[in-house]
Amino acid sequence: MGLFSKDIQSFEDLFMHGLQDLYYAENQILKALPDMIEKAPSAELRAGFEKHRKETEGHVHRLRQVFELLDSEPKGDKCPAIDGILKEGKDLMGEIEGDDVMNVGLIAAAQAVEHYEITRYGALIAWATELGRTDVVPHFKANLAEEKATDQKLTAMAEKRFNPRAESKTERPKAKSTARRKPARAASRPAKGKRAPAKKTRRRA
Ligand code: FE
Ligand code: FE
Repeated sequence: MGLFSKDIQSFEDLFMHGLQDLYYAENQILKALPDMIEKAPSAELRAGFEKHRKETEGHVHRLRQVFELLDSEPKGDKCPAIDGILKEGKDLMGEIEGDDVMNVGLIAAAQAVEHYEITRYGALIAWATELGRTDVVPHFKANLAEEKATDQKLTAMAEKRFNPRAESKTERPKAKSTARRKPARAASRPAKGKRAPAKKTRRRA
């Protein structure tokens, strides 16, 4: 930054800054993902992270293509936001004990990353369009679609609240199997006519 002038003076400058910021962010995410894959207790979550790691390689590649279309050298601009999000995720991983809690914590940390990327791609798409650089928009849109799909998959996993220990445990206490049947029967009975209580929840407007 100059002493007497500021780095971002035009809309084009702002756009380039955003692109360099996101290029830095994607590269940092690519570096952080292997650790997340290693720490994820759930096989499903690990597979999801691995898939997104490969997609992230593609994101970096598409951003390089954007730089090329703009006749500019691929360059990253240090982004304190993604550094903070990734650091928080890393710190959290170090503090969590227990597989189920780790899965849930990792999902939330990963979603913070995806949401960050989603806002940035949204801005870049709008700015590129306004600047008349519609040639680069498909690259941003392709990345954005994968960020959104990843975010949705993470939401689905969080809602499911898988328990990895249940997957691996071979011995099951007898009491569990009988306890399982009981509520199943009890649940099937009121389900016929007792739908009303569920509808009792009133919405406050
Ligand atoms: Fe990405
Ligand atoms: Fe992502």
